[in-house]
Amino acid sequence: MQVMKDCPYCAETIRGDARICKHCRSNLAGPPEGKFVKVRLKGRDKIYRGNLFVPLHLNRVSDAINDERQFVILSDAKEEAKLADIHVGFIALNKNSVEWVRLAEEGAEKDEQGHSVHQLY
Ligand SMILES: [Zn+2]
Repeated sequence: MQVMKDCPYCAETIRGDARICKHCRSNLAGPPEGKFVKVRLKGRDKIYRGNLFVPLHLNRVSDAINDERQFVILSDAKEEAKLADIHVGFIALNKNSVEWVRLAEEGAEKDEQGHSVHQLY
C-alpha cells in the first residue's frame, strides 16, 4: 500500500514520495517556492488568521486565492475566539465556504477599528 500525504499547496492527496504534485505541479523537493503571507479570512461562521502560501509564479495574495485550486490553505492558523484564540495549525478551507480574505499586517491582528487590512476578496 502506498503511503499518501496531502500536498501542502493544494491539499490534494498525493504519494508520500512525490517530488512534484500531480495536481498543482508544485515542486515538493527542497524549500517551498514562494512566500507566506499573513492573512485573516472568514470561513463559514469563524474567522481565522494564518499564513497563506503564495507560490512563486503568483505575485499577489489575490492571485493565490483566485487560482484554480479548490482550497484556501493556511498554516500556523488560529481561530479567532472571544476569550483566547484557538490554535488549529494547518487548515484547508473550501473556497466556496470562504467569505473574505484580507491581508493581516504585523501588529494589526486585534485591530477591529483601525483596519490596517485590505479587502481582497
Ligand atoms: Zn498540489
